[in-house]
Amino acid sequence: MKIQLIEHKNITGDLVILTGLHIGAGSDTIEIGGMDNPIVKDPYTSEPYIPGSSLKGKIRSLLEWREGKISSKGDPCKCGDPECLVCRIFGVSADRERKTGPTRLIVRDARISRGFLSEMQQHKFFPDEKSIESEGFSPEAMTRRRAIASYLVEIKSENAINRVTAMANPRPLERVPAGTVFDLQMTYRVFSIDDDGGERDLELLDKVKEGIRALENDALGGYGSRGCGRVKIDNLQLDGEPWD
Ligand SMILES: [Zn+2]
Repeated sequence: MKIQLIEHKNITGDLVILTGLHIGAGSDTIEIGGMDNPIVKDPYTSEPYIPGSSLKGKIRSLLEWREGKISSKGDPCKCGDPECLVCRIFGVSADRERKTGPTRLIVRDARISRGFLSEMQQHKFFPDEKSIESEGFSPEAMTRRRAIASYLVEIKSENAINRVTAMANPRPLERVPAGTVFDLQMTYRVFSIDDDGGERDLELLDKVKEGIRALENDALGGYGSRGCGRVKIDNLQLDGEPWD
């Protein structure tokens, strides 16, 4: 098989959190008073983010369900069939890549939208007086981002009620509050396969869009069946043009 990279397609959008989002990090109960259900946060700025692996894994599993690719064991599809759109878009193990070609979709970590932060500042949701619209990674900038990050996490308490004694057993849960906006960023790599000019890879782009849109009907992160993780995607764009 002759395979040649011909193009990168940029996929962007605003991922809006409609109900509190919980993407768990490792527990930090070793710390006294530590939260035993924390969310993932950037270690320097303490800002929550959505790992690309979580987004990619969720979109992949939704497409696998839609395409009937879920095995009885429930493992991700690893068939490596050149016609399997899941394996082509999301990738397979290195030894099977010879048949499907390299992973097409690269999903970046989704960071809190700078536009969202600056709008929240303008409306005095955050106390910082300086605009953080175009923050870099200087230590000063990160210190200020850390001060604001505490506003980007809610602690929700859930109760398991003992059926006999009716005693409540509360468990705190960290979430990103509803209304927060993350920058969705992905790159789709188009390969020409046996001189098809990228035709077969470009055909799969509609499936990528279908997977992204399917997020809106499902839930991202943990506790989805209990109300967490409903999202919508605004301003979905392909190479800077509206993608509907
Ligand atoms: Zn497959």
